[in-house]
Amino acid sequence: MKFLIVISLLLCSCGASVEQMVDKVLHGKITGIEDPRTGCNTHPELVPYIRDFEEEYGRGIGDIPICVGDRLYPANMEEPLNTVGVCLKWTSPIRIYKAIIVRTSWFNDNKHDRYAMRQLIEHELGHCALNRVHNSKVDANGKQVSIMFPISFSGQHYRDNHQYYLDELFNRL
Ligand SMILES: [Zn+2]
Repeated sequence: MKFLIVISLLLCSCGASVEQMVDKVLHGKITGIEDPRTGCNTHPELVPYIRDFEEEYGRGIGDIPICVGDRLYPANMEEPLNTVGVCLKWTSPIRIYKAIIVRTSWFNDNKHDRYAMRQLIEHELGHCALNRVHNSKVDANGKQVSIMFPISFSGQHYRDNHQYYLDELFNRL
């Protein structure tokens, strides 16, 4: 199959909004944001995908809980309803705390789809563990060049090209 079929146009995450938020937090312009890890405990069904990522990464992701929840953004920010996952970063004077939240409805619909789950976890850990930003580029065939594409794409295309996307994510091309 040469052209991908986009089966989902769910926004995959954060990007500009969270980058803006992090920028504002770093500059002290937003107050009242709690440590995003508060109440966020890694969901047991996500652990295998985290382990897959760590195996490719060659190290642990550290203290980045990945939880499932109904709300992605802090209470004092507008919730992006078409977003299915987010990497949140919160700064203190001495360090940055991080957490990933996966939307409950998306998780329930996709938890048996191994490649949909891997796509989301690799994308969000691309933000949170690798500090990658979004990449909206497509190639001559209209295919996404990176897992950091801001919108989730066909699981079939992702599965057929998984090694490529891993190599791109971990800068091994
Ligand atoms: Zn993203």
